[in-house]
Amino acid sequence: MIELDFSGKRALVMGVTNKRSLGWAIASKLRDAGAQLAFSYQGERLRGELEKLTAGWSDVRLYQVDVTRSDQLDHMFGDLRDRWGGLDHLVHAIAFAPRAAMDGRYIDTQRADWLAALEISAYSLVSIARRAEPLLAEDGSLVTLTYYAAEKVVPKYNVMGIAKSALEASVRYLAYDLGQRGIRINAVSAGPVKTVAARSIPGFMSMYKRAASMAPLGRNVTQDDVGNLGLFLLSPMAAGITGETVYVDAGFHVMGMDLATGS
Ligand code: NAD
Repeated sequence: MIELDFSGKRALVMGVTNKRSLGWAIASKLRDAGAQLAFSYQGERLRGELEKLTAGWSDVRLYQVDVTRSDQLDHMFGDLRDRWGGLDHLVHAIAFAPRAAMDGRYIDTQRADWLAALEISAYSLVSIARRAEPLLAEDGSLVTLTYYAAEKVVPKYNVMGIAKSALEASVRYLAYDLGQRGIRINAVSAGPVKTVAARSIPGFMSMYKRAASMAPLGRNVTQDDVGNLGLFLLSPMAAGITGETVYVDAGFHVMGMDLATGS
């Protein structure tokens, strides 16, 4: 096993609800590798969970940031600049779509719901990367989390699939902008994992089972699988990789078809 060393590195992780969160999967790997961590959480009710998860960490910083709030974003990045003097890594693990937009046909998506999903799940990466840019070290790196529904139709995923397409395209354009200073950005495309956000998708459990049965590895991915890929992409081991969407899905996305059970 190759040990990655993040000692002396400062990382901001945005979007941890609890220990099942994919943001936490990457954060805990960063912590084990020696990084100093800061977290943002959406609302006050999520702070207690983060405090429990990080209990005993002397150097952790927690910020309340709803990504639709410019003032909260500005405050967090200003405070990180003052206290840390810069930033080495950033994890964006944030997505949201109103339930009404995921429970029927995509064609019925209402304007306000479409805009909310795109703003929170895709534009947030742009506004965060812009604020992080002046703080980021020359070899800094960012990762975000995406899903296969950006590329192919996954029933019920609806507007979230469109938001993930915008997110992946944003990763490519941001890679171009940030690459001029040697900063990298990539997307981790994870197979279904049981998290709070995932469980809110109608029919998630049948999708979860189907993904495992179709995948070449015959299983679902774990938080650990996702955390390992996130850590790799943030690390100097991935120094030549940027603008990429990298799958960690037990191979599901390479399949074109599977055979009915018993065939
Ligand atoms: P999660 O519920 O643990 O995390 C989602 C986070 O988004 C929450 O902490 C929530 O507070 C935050 N968020 C939503 N709206 C916000 C806002 N306005 N401001 C700030 N934060 C906001 O679920 P997760 O599955 O760990 O999701 C993390 C990322 O992983 C998401 O981008 C998700 O689409 C992606 N992803 C998840 C799966 C999966 O199956 N779980 C698969 C592929 C990609």
